[in-house]
Amino acid sequence: MSQEKITAASLPPAKSGYAPADYDADYHRSIDEPQAFWAEQAGRLDWIKAPTRISDVSWDKDDMHIKWYEDGVLNACYNCVDRHLATRGDETAIIFEGDDPSVSEHITYNQLHGHVSRFANTLKARNVKKGDRVIIYMPMIPQAAYAMLACARIGAVHSVVFGGFSPEALASRIIDCGATALITADEGLRGGKKVPLKKNVDAALAKKGVDLRTVLVWRHTGIDIELEGSRDHILNDVLMDVHPDCPPEPMNAEDPLFILYTSGSTGKPKGVLHTTGGYMVYASLTHEKVFDYQPGEVFWCTADVGWITGHSYIVYGPLANGATTLMFEGVPTYPDAGRCWEVVDKHNVSIFYTAPTAIRALMREGDEWVTKHDRSSLRLLGTVGEPINPEAWMWYYNVVGDARCAVVDTWWQTETGGILITALPGVTDLKPGSATKPFFGIKPALVDNEGNFIEGAADGNLVLTGSWPGQMRTVYGDHDRFVETYFSTYPGLYFTGDGARRDEDGYYWITGRVDDVLNISGHRMGTAEIESALVAHKAVAEAAVVGYPHDIKGQGIYAYVILKHGKKESEDLVKELVAQVREEIGAIAKPDHIHITPGLPKTRSGKIMRRILRKIAENDYGALGDTSTLADPGIVDTLIENRKNR
Ligand code: ATP
Ligand code: MG
Repeated sequence: MSQEKITAASLPPAKSGYAPADYDADYHRSIDEPQAFWAEQAGRLDWIKAPTRISDVSWDKDDMHIKWYEDGVLNACYNCVDRHLATRGDETAIIFEGDDPSVSEHITYNQLHGHVSRFANTLKARNVKKGDRVIIYMPMIPQAAYAMLACARIGAVHSVVFGGFSPEALASRIIDCGATALITADEGLRGGKKVPLKKNVDAALAKKGVDLRTVLVWRHTGIDIELEGSRDHILNDVLMDVHPDCPPEPMNAEDPLFILYTSGSTGKPKGVLHTTGGYMVYASLTHEKVFDYQPGEVFWCTADVGWITGHSYIVYGPLANGATTLMFEGVPTYPDAGRCWEVVDKHNVSIFYTAPTAIRALMREGDEWVTKHDRSSLRLLGTVGEPINPEAWMWYYNVVGDARCAVVDTWWQTETGGILITALPGVTDLKPGSATKPFFGIKPALVDNEGNFIEGAADGNLVLTGSWPGQMRTVYGDHDRFVETYFSTYPGLYFTGDGARRDEDGYYWITGRVDDVLNISGHRMGTAEIESALVAHKAVAEAAVVGYPHDIKGQGIYAYVILKHGKKESEDLVKELVAQVREEIGAIAKPDHIHITPGLPKTRSGKIMRRILRKIAENDYGALGDTSTLADPGIVDTLIENRKNR
C-alpha cells in the first residue's frame, strides 16, 4: 500500500507556533496527569461556577457512569455568543452563503446575540422549558444555528434532524426523543431544488403517535404553507412579539445539551446524548488545535448541521472560540463543480473541512473545476466521515491544496463528540490514508476478537481504554443499548465498531467497519485497503467491497465499482482492475466479482452502506434491514436488477 510521507517540516509551520515537541509534551501530560490537564482545559470556557471535580467515570457494566466537570455550572450559548460581545461584537460570527450564488450575508456576534435571544424567548413564550426536547428540521441557513443556540440558552435539549430526511424518518425521531416542539422552515433550497420541509412536517404529524404542541416555521422561500390553528406559527412574525433580551439558563455541566441520531450505516440509528460541560470543552479544544484556528480566519466545514460534524465544527466549536464560521446552504456541484472553490475565493476561506464522498465526487469531475479558481486563501484542509483512499487524499492535497496545505484526516464518531484521531498541522508527518495519531487525552488500542490487547504494528478492533470529556453519556431512552453497543463486546473498554491497523510508527489506519471485515481463506482483511487499490486505477471513481459466502475460501470478495466520467465497462477493464488489486495487495485480495454500477447506496451523510451491498452480493434481497437513512433508495433497485442479470 502507499506509504508516501509528507513531512510536517516540508509544509508551513502551525500559525500557533505549535511544534512536534509540544505535541509530545502535551500528549504525555494529558495521559499521565489527566485530571490536571482537563482541569486546565476547562478554563477555555466561562463558567458560572467553575468545576472542582474533573472526572468520575466507570465503564463497568454494573456501575456505568460517565461524568465530567460534574459540579460545574455554565451555559453553552453564553459561551458561544455573549462572552465574545465585549471583545468582538462587531466581528463576523457566521457567514451565510446561499444555495443561489448571489445570496450571502455576514452576521456579527452582536447580531447573533439579538437573533438567538429572540428565538429563545419565542420558545419560552410557547412554554418550552429546561429539559424539554425540541426538534430542529431546517435547511442550512443561519436560523438553524440560532435555533440550536436558543435551545441551549434556555436549557432545552435540541435534536437536529437533517433537512433531507423523509416524513417517516422525522416522525420516528420525534417519537423517540419525545419532543414537544419543532422548528422548521417553509422550504429548503439545495442545488436549485426546493425541499418541502413544512409539508414533510405535516406528513410526519399525520402519522400515528406523533404529537407536537408547537411548530415554529421560518419563512425562507415565502411559498404558501398551511398553518394549523394554535400549533403552528410563523417564526419571523412571532419573534417580533417577544422581549429582545433573554438571560441564559444556568446549566449543570452534566445537563443534556443535545440528542443526535447516528448516520445509520450499520443499523437502526442511535439517539446519542451529549451533555454540556465536557462536550463544549472538547469541541472548543479540538476545533482550535486540529485546525490551528487563528482569530479572524474564515473556517468552512461543509457538513450539514444535521450531523455531529455540523454540531461540533460549524456551531459549537467555532463559536465557542469566537471564530468566523461559514454556513453553506447548497451542494458542491451547483451551479457547477467549481462552487466550493468559488466560495473559498469569495469569502477568503482559510480552513476547509469536508468528507471523502465529496472529494471523490469532485475528483470525478476533473481538475479544471478546481484549478480555474484561485484558492490562495486556503492553508489547511480536513476530511472526515469515511476512510479516505490515498488516491483521493493525494488529489485533495495536490490539486485542491496545491501541495502547500496540510490535510488533516480526522477520525471520530457521533458518539465521541469531537475528533479523536488526527494529524495536527505543523506537527504530524502525514501519510495519505492514515488518520495518524491520537489527540490529547485519547487512548486508542487494538484488541483481537477475544479482547486481548495487540501491541506494536498490527491489525485489530479499535477500542478506547479511557474516557474523554466529549464522550456520549447514553443512548436516549435506551441505556441498555448504550451499555450493550459500546461496552459489552470487550468489557471495560469502549468499542468503536471500527477496525484499524497500527503501523511501525504508531500511526492508525482505519480499515473499515468491523462488521464488514472480510475473512478470506482465514485471512482477515478490511474493506478500505481493497477499495483504495481499486480507486488507484485511473478509470475508477469510487469502490465498495464486501464479502459473500464462497465454497472454498469461506468468503469471496465482491467489488462494486463506479467508473469516472467517460470510462466504459469492458472485459479488459475488469481484468485490469483485478490485476491492480493483486499487484497492490496480493493475490489473496483479488476480487472474485467486479460489479460496475452507476451509484452506491449511501446514508444521507454520504457514507457507503455496505450491509446492503452484502445482501445484494449474497443474492438475498428479502431483509435489507433499516433503510430509513438511505439517500437514494432507487439505487438499491438498480443494483438488484444488475445483480440478477449477472
Ligand atoms: P451508525 O453508527 O448508525 O451505523 P455511522 O457510524 O456511520 O452510523 P457516524 O457517527 O456519522 O455514524 O460515523 C462514524 C463512523 O464514520 C466511524 O465509526 C467510522 O467508521 C467512520 N469515520 C469517520 N471519520 C473517519 C475517518 N477519518 N476515517 C475513517 N473512518 C471514519
Ligand atoms: Mg457508528
